[in-house]
Amino acid sequence: MNKKVYIGLGSNLGNKSKNIQNALDFIANIEGVSVKKLSSLYLTAPWGKTDQDDFINQVIEIETDLSALSLLYRLQDIEIKLGRQRDVKWGPRIIDLDVLLYGEETIHLEELEVPHPYLLERLFVLIPLAEIDSELEFPDGTKIREVLSRARARLEGNDIIKL
Ligand code: AMP
Repeated sequence: MNKKVYIGLGSNLGNKSKNIQNALDFIANIEGVSVKKLSSLYLTAPWGKTDQDDFINQVIEIETDLSALSLLYRLQDIEIKLGRQRDVKWGPRIIDLDVLLYGEETIHLEELEVPHPYLLERLFVLIPLAEIDSELEFPDGTKIREVLSRARARLEGNDIIKL
């Protein structure tokens, strides 16, 4: 169990908190994964495509000995098991699972970008990340506190409510 990894969970269709809980149960059962920390749940206004229902979001910290790609594939299997349909970009979804950070690594593959490409722009990811690890540093050495305060200044007015 050597990598500390952060995963973002989101749902905006059906019983959202149940979908998040189901995804968590599946993640906890992946061989080679140990769940370490859970953030609170956050209710957030939709991002990108705004004519849809609010999201519930959460961030978790796991430890794993899976490679980043193997982990991504396991998460994609879980999305499909929970009934996710891959159609509308940024459209409504039963469950969305993102690899936010994978240890200190920067990864540029066709299927996997880490840190997650939108990490710095999404308060609903930065706020729960800072909640579970206020000392976190990104691979380029920047600190979550600095990134979060810059994002708050830039994104003021974005609705995000801690549940
Ligand atoms: P989304 O619709 O937001 O779930 O995006 C899914 C697509 O993003 C998949 O085709 C993944 O291969 C790709 N992707 C790239 N980087 C990541 C990442 N860090 N975590 C999850 N999916 C990723």
